[in-house]
Parts: sequence; C-alpha cells; structure tokens
Amino acid sequence: MTKIERAQTAKTILDRLYPTVPIPLDHTDPFTLLIAVLLSAQCTDKRVNLVTPALFNIGPTPQKMAQLSVAEILECIKTCGLANSKAKNVKRLAELLLERHEGIVPANFEDLEALPGVGHKTAGVVMSHAFHIPAFPVDTHIHRLAQRWKLTSGKNVVQTETDLKKLYHPDDWENLHLQIITYGREHCTARGCNGLKCEICRTCFPNRRQPVQVKKP
Ligand code: SF4
Repeated sequence: MTKIERAQTAKTILDRLYPTVPIPLDHTDPFTLLIAVLLSAQCTDKRVNLVTPALFNIGPTPQKMAQLSVAEILECIKTCGLANSKAKNVKRLAELLLERHEGIVPANFEDLEALPGVGHKTAGVVMSHAFHIPAFPVDTHIHRLAQRWKLTSGKNVVQTETDLKKLYHPDDWENLHLQIITYGREHCTARGCNGLKCEICRTCFPNRRQPVQVKKP
C-alpha cells in the first residue's frame, strides 16, 4: 500500500469510528480556548477542565483576566503542571491582548505565537478550532501515530506536520487533528504494540511482524 493509500485508509476508519469529535478542552470562545490550550502543556485535558471553571468564573475575558493578580490566577490553576509560569503567562497574555489587539484573540499565527506561553502547536489549535482556519497542530499523539502508520519519516513535529499536510486536504485537517488524538488516547497509546492490534495497521501493513520504532519529538 502506498503512503497516500495508507493515509486514506486511516481517514476512512477514523471517519467511521469518530464521525464527530468534540474538542476535549472545555471553552466558550477563542479566548477561553486559548487559555485552556496554554494550560494543557505538561497537564492532562481532564485536569485542565477541572481548573478552568473557577478561572473562567473570575477571568472570563481578557479585560477581567488582566485585572487579576498572578496569585489569584495561580490559586485557580495550582494543580496544573508548571502552574507558576503558566499563571504569569496567562496574566501577561491577557494584558497583551488588550495592548495589541483591543482584547480580541488574533486569528493569525504570527500574532498568536508572539503571546507568552503560546507556541506553534497552541496557535495551531486555536487557528483550527476557534477560527476554522486550516492548521494541523502536531502533538505527541499525532507524531507517534503518523510514524506508526508510516505517514512521515518522523524526524520531528515540524516534519510530521509538513508530511501530514501534504497527504490530506486542508478541509479535513481540523477534524483529523481531533480524530487522531482521540484514536491515540483510546487505542494507540505510547506503550509499544505488535503493530497488528488494530484495524488501521492490520489493513495498511498486512505483512508487518515487528512494532514500528517511534522517534520522540
Ligand atoms: S496496531 Fe498498534 S501501532 Fe497500529 S494503530 Fe493499533 S495500537 Fe497503534
């Protein structure tokens, strides 16, 4: 099977398994999604969803968030990993949204990535799921699965993103991002497998006998 055929096989099975996939981070608008994604670094989505109700209750907008002290933000998010630096970033990010963007989350990579705590992946999630502008943010799940399905040479997440974008139509990136993450969490975890456990690999690699070695991003 060619790489393009494997990509389409994976998509067909993912579409059947997950016709609709909710965004796992609770939010109500681009600002709260941006903050939730920022908090999700080194932290589970479940944990983020536990802390954001209290945070968004006192800081639902950039204006309200910027008025909070770092200590008040920290009190809400203290059970998240890297809470101290995240609390500082959340406050400064809210201030910068007011200073640079009239309190509105910008819908472009350059301005998003200029905000504290916002890297390319975080910006991509916001671009894709808040603004529906095609982006294919690659996290460790997507990086791992793209390698196991041999859709990328997998040198790093930048290469994986480039390779996946070539294989799929931009209209499909938003949904595929969520589908692959969900599949990674439910079926294809970081623990190794014999590479023949699931339908995607059994279909794409009928002759596979050994697990695929996955390079860390
Ligand atoms: S067979 Fe293994 S590597 Fe392939 S998708 Fe399933 S869990 Fe992942």
